[in-house]
Amino acid sequence: MATVAFIGLGNMGGGMAANLAKAGHEVRAFDLSADALERARDAGCTPCADAASAVAGADAIVTMLPAGRHVEQTYRDSVFGVASPGALLIDCSTIDVDTAKRVAIAAEAQGLVAVDAPVSGGIAAAAASTLTFMVGGNDEGFRRAGAFLSSMGKAVIHAGASGAGQAAKVCNNMILGATMAVTCEAFALAEKLGLDAQAFYDIASVSSGQSWSITSYCPVRGVGPVTPADREYQGGFAAALMLKDLRLAKEAAASAHADIPVGARAAEIYEAFVASNDGALDFSAIIRPLLERNG
Ligand code: NAD
Repeated sequence: MATVAFIGLGNMGGGMAANLAKAGHEVRAFDLSADALERARDAGCTPCADAASAVAGADAIVTMLPAGRHVEQTYRDSVFGVASPGALLIDCSTIDVDTAKRVAIAAEAQGLVAVDAPVSGGIAAAAASTLTFMVGGNDEGFRRAGAFLSSMGKAVIHAGASGAGQAAKVCNNMILGATMAVTCEAFALAEKLGLDAQAFYDIASVSSGQSWSITSYCPVRGVGPVTPADREYQGGFAAALMLKDLRLAKEAAASAHADIPVGARAAEIYEAFVASNDGALDFSAIIRPLLERNG
């Protein structure tokens, strides 16, 4: 078993670090929040006073931080010059593709091996070790990371070179954001046209309009499987996080000179929702203003 530094013990990282400890690794945990550190101690991790003391001597360093600037700063201040030669850096945060590529190059220059390994699946999947990891990095990085990621998830997929994990993540979530937006519009239009929501669900979920957003995550209460819609849109995947991911998709598209008119429009829809609603509500709550506007 290995010594793993885990930095960022929030909603996602807390459960993931606990699962690494459960798998038998020595997990040295650090977060700026004292409460998060206490929870990590209860879950079998060793709380550290700062990131550098978690990193020193660790075989692998996992980060699960809010955004690219946090990852870049943590690597610069607490990993480079501190981590053991050849240590493996696994960044599971959702960050922009350009930063992911940049930190991997910087890590390599330090004699370290880095992969980007963002996740699909929310807080419940992090706790239950059923996340999907999309990994960007070389073959050695992917092979070595797999030994740790498989303790935290159900699927570990090599997306390609450094940055490819983040690229897969933004493309996947752009599909999710846009299909949810149009699914909400379709249910609102169906209502306007006098269609029963359950009847429309029964038809669309076995027809060509089918998607994960309708079949597994229906935005209408009482229709389809139990989803955040049945809990007044509490829990689930926050609209603010969907907005973050769509902004990352827009940044990636701008950097690659790719045209994403539907993805960009979806970003505007979530932006408007988050500006005038609670961004912590599940992203499928964007159906609410549509239904209200339709009367
Ligand atoms: P969170 O805000 O709950 O946790 C982030 C943690 O990082 C916090 O505990 C914070 O104190 C800590 N932190 C911030 N800066 C730090 C630093 N410099 N050093 C140490 N700790 C620091 O966020 P989360 O929901 O756990 O998400 C983490 C990442 O996972 C994000 O990039 C997010 O986009 C991604 N993600 C989240 C979900 C989800 O459903 N929540 C799903 C997929 C991916």
